[in-house]
Amino acid sequence: MAIAQLATTSQTVSTSQLKGPFRLSVEGIDVAVNRNKPGVFALGSIDNFGRFSMSKVGRSDYDLHGELRQLIGSEVLFKFLHSRYAEAAFLEECRLLHKFQPPSNIIHPYRPANSRLTCPYCRGHR
Ligand SMILES: [Zn+2]
Repeated sequence: MAIAQLATTSQTVSTSQLKGPFRLSVEGIDVAVNRNKPGVFALGSIDNFGRFSMSKVGRSDYDLHGELRQLIGSEVLFKFLHSRYAEAAFLEECRLLHKFQPPSNIIHPYRPANSRLTCPYCRGHR
């Protein structure tokens, strides 16, 4: 019980910067997400305890809206955050990846084109 509460609190705090969850559908994306902006997203569903259970994180360096539209059908819900720059989206993607280790993320995210950034958590950038 105590562990479950801790897990809930931890997840709530660390994903609080992300907006949502919204339904991963044409309508859900169109209502929530601006076009032609970079950003990061988390896909998931609501678990038996009412928590957002993350299955995958990702980002788009140019068009988060378009990226999410291509993922319709792969999950039920999404959360997201617009980023001013692709580099910021990459760093947020890294944070979510290392924090939650979503089961569908098999390889480490690539850094943005023309960027020399490395992941602050593992120094990776592939
Ligand atoms: Zn990393």
